[in-house]
Amino acid sequence: MFTEETIKKIQHLKTPYYYYDMALLQKTLNAITTESVKYGYHIHYAFKANANANIIQAIHKAGFGADCVSGNEVKCAVENGFDTSNIVFAGVGKSDDEINYALDKTIFCFNCESIQELEVINELATAKDKIASIALRINPNVDAHTHKYITTGLEENKFGINPYEFDAVIEKLKSLPNLKLIGLHFHIGSQITDLSPFKQLCLKVNKINAYFLSKEYDLPIINVGGGVGINYQEPDNEAVIDFAAYFKVFHDFMELRKNQQLHFELGRAVVAQCGSLISKVLYIKNGINTNFAILDAGMTELIRPALYQAYHKIENISSISPTLIKYDVVGPICESSDCFGKAVELPITQRGDFIAIRSAGAYGEVMASRYNLRDEVRSYCSDEL
Ligand SMILES: *Cc1c(COP(=O)(O)O)cnc(C)c1O
Repeated sequence: MFTEETIKKIQHLKTPYYYYDMALLQKTLNAITTESVKYGYHIHYAFKANANANIIQAIHKAGFGADCVSGNEVKCAVENGFDTSNIVFAGVGKSDDEINYALDKTIFCFNCESIQELEVINELATAKDKIASIALRINPNVDAHTHKYITTGLEENKFGINPYEFDAVIEKLKSLPNLKLIGLHFHIGSQITDLSPFKQLCLKVNKINAYFLSKEYDLPIINVGGGVGINYQEPDNEAVIDFAAYFKVFHDFMELRKNQQLHFELGRAVVAQCGSLISKVLYIKNGINTNFAILDAGMTELIRPALYQAYHKIENISSISPTLIKYDVVGPICESSDCFGKAVELPITQRGDFIAIRSAGAYGEVMASRYNLRDEVRSYCSDEL
């Protein structure tokens, strides 16, 4: 929520920029810790959601591990002080350089997504005379009921190893002496707001876990990824999601053996609500059927609406007009998809007004581009103003 005090603090800053509410981030981190320690669960932060230095530092201080999907994310985690024994590395297309870097750092675990990747990691580990700890990223064929671009756990998705490949994988592992299989990894998608896909995931994991035990793989790590969604419609009503309910699903339905640890990789639910993209209205264009509010921020700063038809709450934080009018809120980029929201009800809006695009802390700043040779987007944290 933007109080008058906050608006006063930020209104002199040159737009567009990301503004992060660090008190809200801390509150979210505390909630995750409180609810997960009850069951002894391990939390990794998915770096790809937001790699802003101040945010990473706060998350590191909270004691989370790191979930990385590129060599540079592994490097970023290392440089920010994350213990390498707390870094996991996933991704369908890890390059040799990325694998070598992670091997040199002796990270906790490679989450492997194909049989060929197992061969390559084994070969590179052999050359370094190292044993690589790996988990199999498994495609559990669970429908996350989310946007098709952020569903990852279906057979038709590119991610993970499918159950029909298990026998081949187990056979293959016997010939790869420099790999040590320590766990099973899953991640079914993102922005999952109904908890039932997570229950389905638990039931699938139980079966797969039992299958591997029957093949004499008593694996210490079960990693269920992330994906829990946030409330984009009403960010102020649910600034911190119900982590108690989320972790309870796993406690209720996952059958872990005594020696098994449950790991999570949370991204969006950690950082989404603490961030807003702040922009200024450049022009108002009144058409016959449509009024446009043209902002100085566009899809180059926040691509989620253009990429996934994502909804973000849009607020005019400077207008005090009691009259509401509908605007198509658009950016300046030469693409018709550069639109943050259609027929958005706002108080009468004028050139120079401040617009906050809410819940933009996850997959916002990290996805910014310089298309149209735009300036690199700036960001400010509440505790540095
Ligand atoms: C993106 C990703 C996550 C985090 O997903 P969120 O929806 O942001 O929680 C976790 N694990 C893996 C492997 C990912 O690719």
